[in-house]
Amino acid sequence: MKYETVIGLEIHAELNTNAKLFTWTENRFGGEPNTRIDPITLGMPGVLPVLNKKAVDYTILAGLAMECAIQPYSKFDRKHYFYPDLPKGYQISQYDLPIAKNGMVEYELNGETRSCRIRRIHLEEDAGKLIHAEGGANVSWVDYNRSCVPLIEIVGEPDLRSSDEAVAYWRAVKEILEYAEVSDCNMEEGSFRCDANISLRPVGSKTLGSRAELKNMNSFKFVQTALEYEIRRQTRILDGGGTVDQETRLFDPAKGTTRAMRSKEEASDYRYFPEPDLVPLVIDDSWVEDARGLLPELPRARRKRLEDEYGVNAQTAKALTAEKAFADYYEKTAKTCGDPTGAANWVQGDLIGMLRAENRSIHDSPVKPEQLGALIKMINDGSISGRMAKEALDEMMKTGKPAQQVVQERGFIQVSDESAIDEWARQVIEENPDAAEKIRAGNDRAIGFLVGQMMKLSRGKANPKLANAALRKALED
Ligand code: ADP
Ligand code: MG
Repeated sequence: MKYETVIGLEIHAELNTNAKLFTWTENRFGGEPNTRIDPITLGMPGVLPVLNKKAVDYTILAGLAMECAIQPYSKFDRKHYFYPDLPKGYQISQYDLPIAKNGMVEYELNGETRSCRIRRIHLEEDAGKLIHAEGGANVSWVDYNRSCVPLIEIVGEPDLRSSDEAVAYWRAVKEILEYAEVSDCNMEEGSFRCDANISLRPVGSKTLGSRAELKNMNSFKFVQTALEYEIRRQTRILDGGGTVDQETRLFDPAKGTTRAMRSKEEASDYRYFPEPDLVPLVIDDSWVEDARGLLPELPRARRKRLEDEYGVNAQTAKALTAEKAFADYYEKTAKTCGDPTGAANWVQGDLIGMLRAENRSIHDSPVKPEQLGALIKMINDGSISGRMAKEALDEMMKTGKPAQQVVQERGFIQVSDESAIDEWARQVIEENPDAAEKIRAGNDRAIGFLVGQMMKLSRGKANPKLANAALRKALED
């Protein structure tokens, strides 16, 4: 039997607001355990949550960026479960009336544009974190710093048909949230993670198969491996005439396998009911329009514009827009030097290489785009050679000095003064009569040798193009 793979992701992203969702405490990753807490975070008796407006703004932004309809009326609900990471015994989330609904995300897969429908985006608070003792000791600690951090859940329809497609979609969502600047999507810190639901069905079937839910994936590689494993496992079960259990499974990165954690919970298990301590959320048109005004150009649109405006190819445009800061850097460089192709080469090549070597990100590059642009301009107007520019960039990276200063200090300026170049050409011909004779006799390759001699004589400062021309002229005389 041939099966079709069906995948739907529930993506969680922590919002990068200054304060937590229902309280004043700072929203920041890490810190000494249980230092970013307060009575509301801990759910002490008698305290009341107050909604952080910024978190709603960011949810609206995320919703608009994913083409959702922002709901004029939504509300918060209590979702109950018992676990030490949840001091109140319930999580404040949204159940039947989320902030955003019915959206869509587009992404590329093998050069083809595809899309996944978004069912809903809701806003909720994150839970605390359990820390288990290493070495098998029977002890766990709990850190509530993450409790009450604003979190959006983006529920996608089961439109994805392969593990590759799931990863392509997940990456596209990450890019969108980063561009919209609502989440830093730091996967190592757990601020961007997903649950992956997967089922198989006979090719041609229109009904959905019974699914497994893979909890808390926080790496593209893991989700790919886990989904591939599930496809093999479910195929084996179905081929053997069995049925796939509807269950929650955990991925084991060390083994590359998944194992059953618990049978799938039902909504009724959570005893959802409206949060009595918060009023319903009414979002009017002007609030939505204010948010729309804050929405930047999104990755796919920007890619298209870079191709149209700067004439870079699709692959380059994709590489340059992988991160918003990177695309910003590129555009500034290209504008300063007026050479979009040169700028693309330098930004993607030497600049990124040098930043990596220094373990720096584009955000804190000591060389600003205006300075890289100035350097490229000097190459293009013949003031310095490409090789000198590399050396100069290396020094700019280390010292933070402007391009002009480094080039001057290092004596990199190429000599384009014709009388000086003519003089060098005459001298080189005089000192190398054999080579000169060869060129006159038609052996054109010897000219390279003479240009090399001129570079030596000028200590690398002769403009190579002018040197070449000056030699030919002198040889004809
Ligand atoms: P629940 O309420 O249990 O979370 P939902 O119906 O809301 O279940 O779906 C949750 C996620 O699971 C969605 O992202 C959806 O696309 C996906 N999903 C639902 N059914 C299937 C299925 N049969 N196969 C794969 N994914 C599925
Ligand atoms: Mg779910």
